[in-house]
Amino acid sequence: MPVSAEDIRLAFRAGLKSLSCPHCEIGYSDYAVDWSEAWLHGRRDAMHDLGKEERDGPVKLKCELCDGFAFTDAFLSPPKKA
Ligand SMILES: [Zn+2]
Repeated sequence: MPVSAEDIRLAFRAGLKSLSCPHCEIGYSDYAVDWSEAWLHGRRDAMHDLGKEERDGPVKLKCELCDGFAFTDAFLSPPKKA
């Protein structure tokens, strides 16, 4: 079965939601995942402007409950406080 970019995006979103905020220990919400996607878009555009491409870079998350920032990565490592 072919896997589309959208399938990968949705799987990654589900993966992010399986993680917990390192500040308040609560799982990430749709808001947090939407925020993270927007952050990634901005980062990729910025890297592109610098003539660089990035794979498997950091992924920033913002907790909806405590406003705490954390970093994970493309492999969904446990988020670290940012
Ligand atoms: Zn939190």
